[in-house]
Amino acid sequence: MQITEIYKSLQGESTYAGLPCVFVRLTGCNLRCSWCDSEYTFTGGHKMALDEVLGEVNRLSPGGGLVEITGGEPMLQDREVVPLMERLLREGYGVLLETSGERPLQRVPSGVVKIVDVKCPDSGEPDTFCMDNLEALTSHDEVKFVLGSRADYEFACDFALQHSLAQRVNAVLFSPAFRKDATGARDSSHCLLDPQELAEWMLADNVPGRLGMQLHKFIWDPAVKGV
Ligand code: SF4
Repeated sequence: MQITEIYKSLQGESTYAGLPCVFVRLTGCNLRCSWCDSEYTFTGGHKMALDEVLGEVNRLSPGGGLVEITGGEPMLQDREVVPLMERLLREGYGVLLETSGERPLQRVPSGVVKIVDVKCPDSGEPDTFCMDNLEALTSHDEVKFVLGSRADYEFACDFALQHSLAQRVNAVLFSPAFRKDATGARDSSHCLLDPQELAEWMLADNVPGRLGMQLHKFIWDPAVKGV
């Protein structure tokens, strides 16, 4: 499979935030979100066999722990990624899959926690979520909306309500988008949507969801990759 990087850091944006985690970042994406902070994954990378990826995961986190399969869009390489996830589960790792949900998710092993980033209008990639994937979501999965504006927030609330997300999945995450060229200060000044404003909307509407911040961008310089 084509890999951009494998590294260990703290999981940053889900109910697993704050836990040590090995990230396996695959190369390539078929979307072009306006605020994408992973454009360096669109091309390049290097080929690695499944056993080489496993070896690196074992080296970084011997004997188990959390592994996140991410990208880019990892499900573009599903022929290699599905067997990788199966092997990781068999070896006792907890496995998270970060995906836009544009590709079919039916073949993802049931033990994998899917974190599905449903694209909102300001991303420039709305309507890319494959609606058939709703049926593939389980009670341990999570759905994330990255929000840049009030219009995105209203889209997320409507989508969550219309498809009973709070009843389907473990968590519905509302996350302010970060400016993709952010650097320097490790604070919310880089958010495209003020977290305080979002929190107030969520409280006013009694939203059955969770405010999610990208933890790693408050720990390290937002421009730093591989953390
Ligand atoms: S799906 Fe993810 S990697 Fe692809 S463009 Fe959007 S934010 Fe970037």
